Amino acid sequence: MTTPPSTLDTLGRPVRDLRISVTDRCNFRCVYCMPKEVFGRGYRFMDRKELLSFEEIERLAGAFVVHGVEKLRITGGEPLLRRDLDVLIERLVGLGNLDVALTTNGALLPQKAGSLVAAGLERVTVSLDSLDDDTFRSMNDVGFPVTRVLDGIDAAAAAGLKVKINAVVKRGVNDDQVVALARHFQGTGHILRFIEYMDVGATNGWRLDDVVPAAEIVSLISAELPLEPAEENYRGEVARRFRYADGSGEIGVIASVTQPFCGDCTRSRISAEGRLYTCLFATKGHDLRALVRGGADDAEIHATIGRIGGRRTDRYSEERSSRTAELPRVEMSYIGG
Ligand code: SF4
Repeated sequence: MTTPPSTLDTLGRPVRDLRISVTDRCNFRCVYCMPKEVFGRGYRFMDRKELLSFEEIERLAGAFVVHGVEKLRITGGEPLLRRDLDVLIERLVGLGNLDVALTTNGALLPQKAGSLVAAGLERVTVSLDSLDDDTFRSMNDVGFPVTRVLDGIDAAAAAGLKVKINAVVKRGVNDDQVVALARHFQGTGHILRFIEYMDVGATNGWRLDDVVPAAEIVSLISAELPLEPAEENYRGEVARRFRYADGSGEIGVIASVTQPFCGDCTRSRISAEGRLYTCLFATKGHDLRALVRGGADDAEIHATIGRIGGRRTDRYSEERSSRTAELPRVEMSYIGG
């Protein structure tokens, strides 16, 4: 079977970065992602047989590599809730020449960091929205203490993982934590990234007024810890980089609302049950599980992925408006950030 050339979409964007959700479950109820009112006691999460198996994930990931994917990011829900995740990591790392990373809320890192590294994982991104324990507990909405996530970050670093920290900033909730977070991680070697609060899904009650623009975040920090712009590491990098003028490290800002970056977007996402989404704000997905479980051969799977990728037109953040706000959008907890 001939290797198809890297797939380019209708805007000439290749697919380089595949995010794979391995579960729709989470042990947190972050108010901007999985509000308790919706994802509460009666919510029906997927059964194990609905989830893609590790073999199916590996097969699909391999197919995307053929189409040009170079980075795999394991997400959820909370991916560390998926049993034996290190077995999957080992399989994906075994595909070769891939940058495999994991996004987690850090709660289970003290127990799992060692086995993840043994499986070949090199990078982890931990979500941490506040250092203030009350604020953190109210944002994760399950009363989980901040110290245990900080312990998770230390455990990851001690196990040899490269660590990034993601903080979603919501006005009036944790914007008073921006400088404190910057001070805490300055000089640690961990890269802290601030994410503008986004209208992902349809359950977080998003309002533009609650968004703290990236420019404001940078000036808040720079007023106390002078920053200077840094060049991007590669085209399509999500975060805008800023380094501390005193050389003590860098931060990033992900400005999907005020400085959208769809023009260079090379990301696709697979949900835990095998639906392909070509945008974080997509309204519908493409069922790859039916294909895999329906006995499709590699050529058919490759052709299907190529067809979907080639027809991609997504530019939600650049088109964000009152019209797009009405569209039904997939939940972030379902496809990972
Ligand atoms: S809004 Fe969609 S197309 Fe734009 S950068 Fe985000 S995922 Fe990519």
